[in-house]
Amino acid sequence: MTLMLEEIDCPLCGDGPSRLVVESPDNQWGVTGVFRAVQCQRCGHVYMNPRPTQETIAACYPDNYGPHQNLPRSQESAAAVPGSTMGLADAEESRPWYLRYLPLRYIPGLKRLYEWLLDDRSQWVPEAHRTGSERPAAFELGCAAGAYLSQLQQQGWIVRGVEPGEQPAATARAAGLDVTTGTLDSVSVETEAFDFAASWMVIEHVPSPRITLSDLYRLLKPGGRLAISVPNAGSWESRFFGSAWDAWDLPRHLHHFSPRSLRRLLLECGFERVTIIHQRNVLNIIGSLGIALTRRQPDSRLGQWLLRYPHAPRLWLQLLLVPVTFGLAFVRQGGRLTVIARRPGLPHTPADQTVETDQTQGTV
Ligand SMILES: [Zn+2]
Repeated sequence: MTLMLEEIDCPLCGDGPSRLVVESPDNQWGVTGVFRAVQCQRCGHVYMNPRPTQETIAACYPDNYGPHQNLPRSQESAAAVPGSTMGLADAEESRPWYLRYLPLRYIPGLKRLYEWLLDDRSQWVPEAHRTGSERPAAFELGCAAGAYLSQLQQQGWIVRGVEPGEQPAATARAAGLDVTTGTLDSVSVETEAFDFAASWMVIEHVPSPRITLSDLYRLLKPGGRLAISVPNAGSWESRFFGSAWDAWDLPRHLHHFSPRSLRRLLLECGFERVTIIHQRNVLNIIGSLGIALTRRQPDSRLGQWLLRYPHAPRLWLQLLLVPVTFGLAFVRQGGRLTVIARRPGLPHTPADQTVETDQTQGTV
């Protein structure tokens, strides 16, 4: 399939005039072309323009596209590498010898410390019993092969997923998960049926984030919660690395958000209590270093290793980088954001009684 591009007006406000933000080839998967992200002069939204037509967009995703490879994991391996997006085989293999032989569970508090250090907060797993619902139901848009859905299931959620990739969706079904191949346009999902909806690193890929977020709003019961994650184009990373920032990820990322722009969009879609969490995650930085290095020396083995690192993180380096990840999240400069919001609820539902801290001071 040949990739075709089309000029569009701002996908959020419909206005035409924009200014160039970044121009870059495909740094990660080698799709031919030079691609651009622009900023709308009216509403400030940053989006890819021209962008892939919906008919040919599959040409941007190779068969071995990293995020499609995440497999459902056993409970044991999920505990071994909390918050990781690695498949089972990777997780076992990358678990260093000192963790394989160290009887972590016999040392009080050590396992919890280890899990806390490595929890980058990228995929929040809420507690099912706190919904007050008899059959707490969760939905995931873009569930790939079902790794996160199986985590939810282990926590007591009844899960349902939608995934556009045929191969990962089939893998998820083979693991016994209720997953349909398609998108929210093509698949019918019951409305007001879910206590929780998640969509990790997906909203930046869809044609209209406003339509997708509004669709997710409708799937939620009143009082239900939404959790999403996106790269943070408002962080220092994007300015520092310029066109080598790996989360521009052109031509796959059609939208680029800052904490402020995403919060505004969620409020416009009807959500309330928007909580912005800066992930403890430096994968963008490592990938961007790889892009910068391979641009100078295409054969650099270190460059290639750094470039692929975000798709196969090593535990020893993740542990080594803990001070950096905590520091950047503390100063609210995380390169990836997890955002939690709520569909306004009916009065006196159990969800209303949940008190939460709103950490919404935008940094951009
Ligand atoms: Zn606009």
